[in-house]
Amino acid sequence: MYISVAIDGPSGAGKSSISKKVANELGFIYVDTGALYRAVGYNALNNGVDLENDDAIADSLKGLEISFKCSNDGQRVMIGQTDVSELIRTNEVSMAASRVSAVPKVRAFLFDMQQKIAQTNNIIMDGRDIGTVVLPNATVKVFLTADVEERAKRRYIENQQKGISGTYEEVLEDMKRRDYNDTHREIAPLKMADDAVLVNTTGNEFDQSVKLLSDTIKSELRKKNYEY
Ligand code: C5P
Repeated sequence: MYISVAIDGPSGAGKSSISKKVANELGFIYVDTGALYRAVGYNALNNGVDLENDDAIADSLKGLEISFKCSNDGQRVMIGQTDVSELIRTNEVSMAASRVSAVPKVRAFLFDMQQKIAQTNNIIMDGRDIGTVVLPNATVKVFLTADVEERAKRRYIENQQKGISGTYEEVLEDMKRRDYNDTHREIAPLKMADDAVLVNTTGNEFDQSVKLLSDTIKSELRKKNYEY
């Protein structure tokens, strides 16, 4: 039996960067499921798909080949033969990802891909519905969050470092809108699983959050008789 750690939480809580670091420490494969929704959103934008039209979004999945290469050090996302790992990180793609992720056919399309990888590796998988829908029997479930202002501040600084334009206010507005979309959609809304552990990183430095998450996961694994 492989160990699966589900990490869910809102945008910008640091899920990806913190989880990647912890996966590296534990020797687990890290899977960023948001990147898969981003790839679908990117593809829809690229093909001029009307993002208000669910049927058009569902149609855009025909022939779409998304694949990803995972390691404990991160992951690359491909559409066909093109590596889109960096291209899917813009604000525009973030909004498109949030939009397409509310379409049931998109979620169904990505569901198997996510489950399969958990069947053959020790993983840390991050997303919005991992503990509630994708891996309801995950060994450990964590809900990782931080205050929205702090999440927006972190994302804004990250964007500046990557040369992505936009003001702090715009990032905050986007973040609030995505929080709303993600928690209010009918299918697989973002919510904490009943058996998840809450980890709040507000006010923490990055390294403190890494330690907090790592300690939480190890302690939960020990409760289940794993030696960590
Ligand atoms: O985590 P990230 O911000 O990259 O995710 C992009 C978007 O993909 C989120 O706003 C969310 O709407 C969607 N998503 C999802 N379910 C997941 C992961 C991401 O709906 N498991």
